Amino acid sequence: MTFRQSGSLDTSGVSGGGRGGRGGRRGIAVGGGVGGLAVVLVALFLGVDPSLLGLEQGDGGRGPTSDSAQRFQSHIDQCDLRQANTDTVCRIVATTESLEDVWSSELPAQAGMRWVQPHTTVFTGDVDTACGAASSAVGPFYCPADQDVYIDPAFFDEVLVGRLGAPPSGAAQMYVVAHEFGHHLQTMLGDIRRSQQDPRGPSSAAVRVELQADCYAGLWAHYATSTPGPGGGDPLLESLTDEDVDEIVRTAEVIGDDHIQSSGGARVDPGSWTHGSSQMRRQWFLTGYDQGSIRACDTFGARV
Ligand SMILES: [Zn+2]
Repeated sequence: MTFRQSGSLDTSGVSGGGRGGRGGRRGIAVGGGVGGLAVVLVALFLGVDPSLLGLEQGDGGRGPTSDSAQRFQSHIDQCDLRQANTDTVCRIVATTESLEDVWSSELPAQAGMRWVQPHTTVFTGDVDTACGAASSAVGPFYCPADQDVYIDPAFFDEVLVGRLGAPPSGAAQMYVVAHEFGHHLQTMLGDIRRSQQDPRGPSSAAVRVELQADCYAGLWAHYATSTPGPGGGDPLLESLTDEDVDEIVRTAEVIGDDHIQSSGGARVDPGSWTHGSSQMRRQWFLTGYDQGSIRACDTFGARV
């Protein structure tokens, strides 16, 4: 997926955050537990406990400093569209703007509702949220209580590619951001609560919520290269190739609960699933991508 080579970005919806405090990029730590997060109030990107991958728990870089927040903020402030093709932080910023374009157009057209853009925080180390304190260890997540998407950009290379075997791919990074925005749409529509009532198992409400977020990510990809940019300008994204779709699908597969369990040497236990199998995640991304329809993303009414 390639952004236009010129044009500015509205960076006002993205902030630097976190208490990294180490003056540089640490290895991301993936470990057991989710720290102080109120799990029931938060949508995590990874389902099955990533400690299965044999990674060590980090200390989250605790401390009062906000070096990482300031560092990310100045990075975000200088992003433009051209840089979004090569720079991970700028790619996150540009993706949020593309998502705003698509959902501001499709949500009124398909559901008669006005889109309200969530905030996005780029962080490392620890971050305070309305869902509790979190560390990078939990991976990208969305907190419904403050309607904020939280992403540590190191997650992509260190966990998604390095530990789980996803292809190194800008399109895959954009899929992750789009999935989290899917949780925001579910918050607006009231569906995200369902996961708390039935949190585990291959046909649980939790899995249906996650698969629906994958479907909404696919829906965004369906429209991303045709929806006008801000002010009716050219679309922010000028290309989406078969290779991009293939990389997203391969990424959706490696974050399937079955793949995470088996790659960690654990028994595949569908009864513990919270996000769905590789096959399910692939299928629902492609459903949204092929059909471009909110209605087609009704994972609650479907057999999964
Ligand atoms: Zn999710």
